[in-house]
Amino acid sequence: MAQLSPLLKQATPVVVDHGEGVYLYDTAGKRHLDFTAGIGVTSTGHCHPHVVSAAREQIGKLIHGQYTTVMHKPMLELTEKLGSVLPKGLDSLFYANSGSEAVEAALRLSRQATKRPNIIVFQGGFHGRTVAAATMTTSGTRFSAGISPLMSGVHVAPFPYAFHYGWDEGTATKFALRELDYLFATVCAPNETAAFFIEPVLGEGGYVPANPEFLAGLRERADKHGILLVMDEIQTGFGRTGKFWGHDHFGVRPDIVLIAKGLASGFPISGIAASGELMAKALPGSQGGTYGGNAVACAAAIATLEVIEREGLVENAAERGRQLLEGVRVIADKSPSIGDVRGLGLLVGSEFTTPDGEPDTAKAQAAQKAASANGLLLLTCGAYMNVVRMVPPLVVNAEQVDDALRVWGDVVAGVE
Ligand code: PMP
Repeated sequence: MAQLSPLLKQATPVVVDHGEGVYLYDTAGKRHLDFTAGIGVTSTGHCHPHVVSAAREQIGKLIHGQYTTVMHKPMLELTEKLGSVLPKGLDSLFYANSGSEAVEAALRLSRQATKRPNIIVFQGGFHGRTVAAATMTTSGTRFSAGISPLMSGVHVAPFPYAFHYGWDEGTATKFALRELDYLFATVCAPNETAAFFIEPVLGEGGYVPANPEFLAGLRERADKHGILLVMDEIQTGFGRTGKFWGHDHFGVRPDIVLIAKGLASGFPISGIAASGELMAKALPGSQGGTYGGNAVACAAAIATLEVIEREGLVENAAERGRQLLEGVRVIADKSPSIGDVRGLGLLVGSEFTTPDGEPDTAKAQAAQKAASANGLLLLTCGAYMNVVRMVPPLVVNAEQVDDALRVWGDVVAGVE
């Protein structure tokens, strides 16, 4: 009899039977409040009726129509719909299936368009697990462990992570801008650099919002040196941060936006968006795959975008995000084990540290496990897995946020 690979290790013992809204129901009938959303994917909640019916209808019409052979209506419609929410000028789209593939597509496009070899990524960034994306990932050493030689041409610059470096509000920007100078003095050879890949909020790296002046400075230098600014919005897009795009908080214009996760409520689809002029610089035949832009996934994505708009999920993420962040801060204030609480919209992280400021992985893991045992599903993140993160579906309501805070308060008190 076949067994599941030990690689499929779970953070919780839950075996899910079905999901509805912000809840998952296990095979024994127990209800769990899902503050993981399939790692930021099921933004419209589990099995939103509008998404389910759009996908059902599409399955009966066409499941797969490979785009190098034929075009299909859902992809055309999705492209038009995304055009209305993407930053102005980013009017050309290309689809894949996973976040990592979108990262690879943007990497290829950046090198082909600029004819330069180097890619600059930022410490603590996560871009995926294919070999190129893993090379670009520094949110933990485990993602590229044992697979060297990695891809060449990737250079890592510091990411202004105020808590990590011990900066307070008054000094954070000054030091962040020094990091930008450091980047150009040491890591980045401007004429050899194709692109910067950055997340507006470090996701897997510990839910750390970028410093606004740092991002603005990066844009300025990118313009000056003809370097492309690639915004990895895979975890932060589609309202997650309380604005439609994570970068909307910073007023910084990207050259390429990477999308996935929240786009289709759980159907596998990802994409890259750029200007038509830039996209035309990709070499024919070098991009693509069999399944990218699957017709059912496109239909689910269209329905997801409709739900986001109709139900005001971006505004809800902003409001519920404020409620959650505030509540988590109050809990952290009473706990000597939580050194920092950060967040933007419905991305909220509590960083566990020892009394001398070292990462306290054991306590974070204990808190995550205790929460899950008490019906609140959570995950950890950060280089040391010492940040407990909350990333609920964007449909979460005030009462459900209160329920989660009650469990979290008890759990934190219990691990002290
Ligand atoms: N970029 C970011 C910012 C992500 O959060 C992730 C997934 N956590 C990825 C890329 C990779 O996506 P995937 O797992 O679908 O390959």
